[in-house]
Amino acid sequence: MAECTDSYLQYVIRQVEKAKERCKDPIVLVEQRLDFSKWIPQGFGTGDCVIVSDDVLTVIDFKYGLGVLVESENNPQMMCYALGALELFDSLYDIKRIEMTIFQPRRDNVSTYEISKDELLEWAQSVLSLTAKLAENGEGDFKAGEHCQFCKVKATCRKRAEYNLELAKYDFEMPTNLDNTEIAAILSKADELISWASDVKEYALQQALNGEEFDGFKVVEGRSTRKYTDETAVADAVTQAGFDPYEHKVLGITAMTKLLGKTRFEKLLGGLIEKPKGKPTLVPITDKRKQINKAADAADEFKEEN
Ligand code: SF4
Repeated sequence: MAECTDSYLQYVIRQVEKAKERCKDPIVLVEQRLDFSKWIPQGFGTGDCVIVSDDVLTVIDFKYGLGVLVESENNPQMMCYALGALELFDSLYDIKRIEMTIFQPRRDNVSTYEISKDELLEWAQSVLSLTAKLAENGEGDFKAGEHCQFCKVKATCRKRAEYNLELAKYDFEMPTNLDNTEIAAILSKADELISWASDVKEYALQQALNGEEFDGFKVVEGRSTRKYTDETAVADAVTQAGFDPYEHKVLGITAMTKLLGKTRFEKLLGGLIEKPKGKPTLVPITDKRKQINKAADAADEFKEEN
């Protein structure tokens, strides 16, 4: 966690230095409330870092999450934050462009998108305001996708169910083997399907615990494993019996770094650290990681493990 925030800090410092080259008195704001209620009723957010200078307004969002890779291009959250920052500083600085960056260290993702002030304001008028009005009136269309996982009604939303159940058609339309195009279509939705199914399961469990009934289902105790009731008493008893109750293991890298401090860790152990190749993973083509080209090599390397 500290490494992630350190690298974020370094990134912000570099952006502040760039801002100083453009303008002698840039402002740097951290955890700044950004109000964009002019376009979305009651809309506001908190900008992790906003750097205001002549010419460029910079908005940076630190995302610690690992699950979803977030891109900044046409990202409505970032564009709303930029509008909020413009509201505060447009009259004080000569802002022409807005640079929006998502800094997501655990995914090695630094995604930057630049838009002119005029384009941003045009989007706010022609898209954001109109969409917000539709939503406020309960009109408009539901749009299911990866973002559903953050929605309050994710477990019970019919649109999300329909979207995920589209896959069910493969049950009856393809009686023999699926071809690669069909498998690709399934892969592109598999993660969302799994996420939706587990949201529905979790929701149903909570409802069942509250007394709701679902045809064909009941609540039972899950599997559990035995455990000690008192570890100290166990250790004492085994020691008295003449045995060593502890297993001795070398600390893991994170705990060892904490014990030694980063500098001493590097000095003592730098030459003894390696990063093994990760297990092959099938990901969407948009993923930023480099493709493993030689399928045969990868298979050779990993087949012994499997
Ligand atoms: S779960 Fe339904 S309401 Fe929520 S974001 Fe998805 S489609 Fe929209």
